[in-house]
Amino acid sequence: MEFDESFIVERFDDLSISGAAEQGQLMTFHCLQCNTILADSLTVCGEIKSIDSIMCIRVTNDVVVSEALESVNKGVMTNCIYSHLKCRSCSYVVGRVIHAAPLHLTAIRSIFLLNKAMMSSYILDSSSMVKTSSLSFDLKPLQETVNEVNPNNFRPTTFRFMVTI
Ligand SMILES: [Zn+2]
Repeated sequence: MEFDESFIVERFDDLSISGAAEQGQLMTFHCLQCNTILADSLTVCGEIKSIDSIMCIRVTNDVVVSEALESVNKGVMTNCIYSHLKCRSCSYVVGRVIHAAPLHLTAIRSIFLLNKAMMSSYILDSSSMVKTSSLSFDLKPLQETVNEVNPNNFRPTTFRFMVTI
């Protein structure tokens, strides 16, 4: 798929759009270095703020899982074994996928964790490119989600959850 810059209105860091992800706006996530599409907002199932990453159940074929296994012995990822996720076009490291983790992190095992700082986002409704780090993918309050499911106020929404580590 070609990336046509003519569709981009402007790149801005305006925090007023920070709720775009929460409002269910459709967007694509791009490699910060070469703009290759890595994933889209329909595959996002949450965010892990402590490692500045969004959780995706699916990514495009342009995301390559590195064969090398890594591990860390400190921080929130202690005792995890993971592989880096790289952009196929430019080999930029854009995130990681955890293969083995302690019990409290099993919920994010095999989920694609894309680092927000390594991506930009193209918001379809406004035809604008923004920094993914300016967007929030927080869990909504339960009552707000229930209101959306109300048949009188129904609109499609994706299920999201938050992992606190
Ligand atoms: Zn790239």
